[in-house]
Amino acid sequence: MHKCLPTRDRLIRMGFSIDPVCPTCCQAPETRSHLIYERAYAIKCFKLLHSRLHIRFRVQDLVHWFSTVRRLTKLQKRFISACHVALIYWLWRIRNEARMNAVVRRSEVLVLQVLHDIKARVLALNNAPLLPRDQAWFQNL
Ligand SMILES: [Zn+2]
Repeated sequence: MHKCLPTRDRLIRMGFSIDPVCPTCCQAPETRSHLIYERAYAIKCFKLLHSRLHIRFRVQDLVHWFSTVRRLTKLQKRFISACHVALIYWLWRIRNEARMNAVVRRSEVLVLQVLHDIKARVLALNNAPLLPRDQAWFQNL
């Protein structure tokens, strides 16, 4: 999903004549990488999310990290992955809200919302009873 976001660098390559500067921070050209990985707001959101999930890695390393970690259950990995997708979606949505309404949600509020929403969805879709490890893990989020 995030590879097709109409960021300003992509719109300029398509021929649009627009300001290339990121509309939320005004400190760098708006690219996908800036929006998701480099912008101070996004970095803070991912750090908060990882802190709540008790994990440590850069979001760019997610795929590699998943293939090496053994201590998480399948459900925990699914949950962490869903949280990352949701946060990327919300970073894009917040970028648009900032442009339209000049309002940006606090990163702490956003991360709690992502955790709450994804927890409700993952648990609703999980048909099997939770493993004791998963129950304890979800209670500590
Ligand atoms: Zn920016």
